[in-house]
Amino acid sequence: MLAALCNDVRIYAHAAQKGAIYLCPGCKAELVLRKGAIKIHHFAHKPPVECQFGAGESREHLEAKLAIYQAFVGRSLRAEMEWPLEA
Ligand SMILES: [Zn+2]
Repeated sequence: MLAALCNDVRIYAHAAQKGAIYLCPGCKAELVLRKGAIKIHHFAHKPPVECQFGAGESREHLEAKLAIYQAFVGRSLRAEMEWPLEA
């Protein structure tokens, strides 16, 4: 997933820094920030994973979400990624 909570504030992986505590916006479990050189920057649950928030997202899926977000922001439009909605 590309978004997490840090001190109750939403933050995106591309802007996050290692060392902080990040929580899942869905289940509030602690996440790991993965910010390497190969894959798109993202957050992941620590195993065992029981939460379905952000589960099964391929690299292409993450890249598409980020590209759409950046297209809106690049046009000075407000955009949010991965906002949990009530069922
Ligand atoms: Zn979760």
